[in-house]
Amino acid sequence: MSLSRKSILFILVALFLAPPFILAEPKPKKVKRPKRIIFLIGDGMGLAQISGVMVNYAGQNSFERFPVIGLSKTASADNYVTDSGAGATVFSIGRKAKNGAIGVDSAEQKQALLYTIAKSKKWGTAVVATSSITHATPASFYAQVPSRKMEEEIAESLLNQNCDIAIGGGSKFFINRKDGKNIFSGLNQLGYVTKNDTVLTPIDAPKFVYTLANNGLKTMSEGRADLLKKSSVLVQTNLVKYYKNSIVMIEGSQIDWGGHDNDYEYMKAELLDFNEVINEVLDWAAKDKNTLVIVTADHETGGLSLLEDKQNPMQFKPHYSTKGHSGIMVPVFAYGPGAELFGGIYENTSIFNKLVYLITGNESTK
Ligand code: MG
Ligand code: ZN
Repeated sequence: MSLSRKSILFILVALFLAPPFILAEPKPKKVKRPKRIIFLIGDGMGLAQISGVMVNYAGQNSFERFPVIGLSKTASADNYVTDSGAGATVFSIGRKAKNGAIGVDSAEQKQALLYTIAKSKKWGTAVVATSSITHATPASFYAQVPSRKMEEEIAESLLNQNCDIAIGGGSKFFINRKDGKNIFSGLNQLGYVTKNDTVLTPIDAPKFVYTLANNGLKTMSEGRADLLKKSSVLVQTNLVKYYKNSIVMIEGSQIDWGGHDNDYEYMKAELLDFNEVINEVLDWAAKDKNTLVIVTADHETGGLSLLEDKQNPMQFKPHYSTKGHSGIMVPVFAYGPGAELFGGIYENTSIFNKLVYLITGNESTK
């Protein structure tokens, strides 16, 4: 094939002009990294739970305040349907784990925890839950054990100091243990303030562990009121006072428990409480402007669907298909600096990668 002089000239001119337009990869837009991250997990909170409770909610729907929405694929290393151990471990180590595992990968190897990485960058770290502090979801952020059932070992893991602040239930795993050890006194020696009380009173300290119940906290119908919101505010106040950067995981633990009971009203009360916490967090983040807020779930619980109610056509009948979890994707809601990374459909492992990037600035993990 021979080319005319004219076409050779044309190609040369095109190549000369091309680089900025064709040959160069478009530069990725620079992501603004947040100073603080508030990571909220509604355990067992799938789209059916959010739809059923929030679509016709008369109050402020926190979920509608998020500009970026994604979907997270929740399978664990050994089961399409994850449990809460593997489901939170993946946020904490970025690798799929076997169901029941806490902070270790599918070969039961300890991988760097998100909170250890955050601490290496001098970030303050915290967990808040309405379960025990040692329950699968919060545990996955600071402990590394093969089974979620090892709650005494999990409590002891707080002595590793990768979690600065914890509020939730579970005093029996700290001070009334089967092995007789007193984890609170160990924590005190490391400079943590410790407190066990059924009511929340102010604390002013960079490091503290506060238990509010022997095991899980009361349900909403038992009168828990706004304890999760108040606990979250107390934690954030101390993180802001004592750390330039911080991350807190806040869990609506019992949305899952209502699902396991196939008790729609239990789930609804817990989700509405969680909605109040999210609204509070968003109000705070809107003023702060340097805080990323993420809301997601580890998995859906109950296989909930909203079926037609023939008697009340504008209502629905909640219908559960299992006492366990289901494998449907769960939504991810994002607000604030870095939120744009959370749009799209991705494996739950990506959430860890995005958070590590936002904390460290290391592009290779994004
Ligand atoms: Mg949980
Ligand atoms: Zn569950």
